[in-house]
Amino acid sequence: MRLPDESPIAAIATPPGRGGIGVVRVSGSGLDCVISGLLGEARAAALAPRHAAYGPFLAADGSEIDRGLALHFPAPHSYTGEDVFELQGHGGPVVMQLLLRRVLEAGAPIGLRLAMPGEFTQRAYLNEKLDLAQAEAVADLIDATTEQAARSATRSLAGEFSQEIHALVEQVIHLRMLVEATLDFPEEEIDFLERADAFGQLARIRATLAGVLARARQGALLREGLNVVLIGRPNVGKSSLLNALAGAEVAIVTPIAGTTRDRVAQAIQVEGVPLNVIDTAGLRDTADEVERIGIARTWDEVAKADVILHLQEAGQGGATAAAAAGARVDPNAVPGAGAIDADAIDAGIAARLPAGVPIVRVLNKIDLAGEGARVERVGGRPSAVWLSARGGEGVELLRAALLELAGWQGAGESQFIARERHLQALRAASDHLDAAEENARRRGEQLELFAEELRLAQEALSEITGEFTPDDLLGVIFSRFCIGK
Ligand code: GDP
Ligand code: ZN
Repeated sequence: MRLPDESPIAAIATPPGRGGIGVVRVSGSGLDCVISGLLGEARAAALAPRHAAYGPFLAADGSEIDRGLALHFPAPHSYTGEDVFELQGHGGPVVMQLLLRRVLEAGAPIGLRLAMPGEFTQRAYLNEKLDLAQAEAVADLIDATTEQAARSATRSLAGEFSQEIHALVEQVIHLRMLVEATLDFPEEEIDFLERADAFGQLARIRATLAGVLARARQGALLREGLNVVLIGRPNVGKSSLLNALAGAEVAIVTPIAGTTRDRVAQAIQVEGVPLNVIDTAGLRDTADEVERIGIARTWDEVAKADVILHLQEAGQGGATAAAAAGARVDPNAVPGAGAIDADAIDAGIAARLPAGVPIVRVLNKIDLAGEGARVERVGGRPSAVWLSARGGEGVELLRAALLELAGWQGAGESQFIARERHLQALRAASDHLDAAEENARRRGEQLELFAEELRLAQEALSEITGEFTPDDLLGVIFSRFCIGK
């Protein structure tokens, strides 16, 4: 792919805000003017590759902007594969801006410019320091919201996922060569393929691919998390349930306010799987323009829901019993557990729910209803959970039901982080192998199609590591990185 241009780039690599240290990173060729501009001629000349040197960082007039560590990584032994120069100064926003500006000024003769988001990693990819799946893992590691997700991103970054893909590609290539060689000798083709165990090879490739796809699905779940949307009338206990789900892990609950996706949700994890739980309190009709925008965003979230939790109260019988026993009665309790259409708001919400998304009814306040915590199943899948959000009974059952609906198979050391893009490529490869199998079975004149499907499967797999990835897709992938990475 083409870079916008190949001039040297610079950026602040540490996050905005204040911290103990901040890093300005420069990558490209001809960095001598930058190094000597910032360190002075003598210290620049003495700067040993990959050794940290402590001292002042200089302004154009020779005065000191900051002092800290300077590092030089000559090409190709650097993150980007180009010459890299790094300044580790004090992590304040002003001093970092001053350093960055000074670096750009010193680099003006070589056309040094600000880096675009992800451009350092993009160069690492273009210089074959990382393949595409590894480059994506860099961003996924930075964005990981749970320990499990971070660990799988590290495994992908180390190349475990890529190796699996490479192994598959190798096997497909081997089989392709076999089949294509046969095409030239139509007389003996079938015998030849059978002797070479071509059909056995195909079966093994398909089995391996199915295994990789299953693991990638788990990895995608770790990366994307499970989008859980809470719906229900006011006072059924949505906020209480959100807190109960966070439960013991409340310490690691992180509000993701206006960060990447410009929304507020609570990130909770269950067994390392991030749950993006969205409380739909705001889902009602409104005339307020600002609120309307907020609600539109919430609906976007609902549209992306993996599971919808429809909260209701555990029923009138229980409430009456509780009243008889002198217990506090919830004034909002509505008769019957399935009374959604009794409520205009819920009916409106229900009408807009996306089809095909699993809905679990949560029958809350079992303590008032005198019910026990339990799970109901329809067709082997959880369909309703009876619990008490306030008391906590049954919340474990709901967590387990959510993981079950998500297809989570438990944390393991074999997971690698994966993206929807990877799943699509794996599914495409799988479809082509199915078609290959189909054509192979029919033998005879179908052998050319057999070979062609193998070629298409190989291309799909190679998209994952970037050996066969369209330029515009690359642009999209890297533009989603943060600046300085
Ligand atoms: P929301 O409007 O749907 O978010 O409902 P809240 O979470 O604010 O809860 C409404 C009221 O119901 C609060 O007074 C909660 O304490 C109460 N509540 C929630 N869950 C339970 C429960 O399991 N049992 C009882 N008895 N009360 C509950
Ligand atoms: Zn609420």
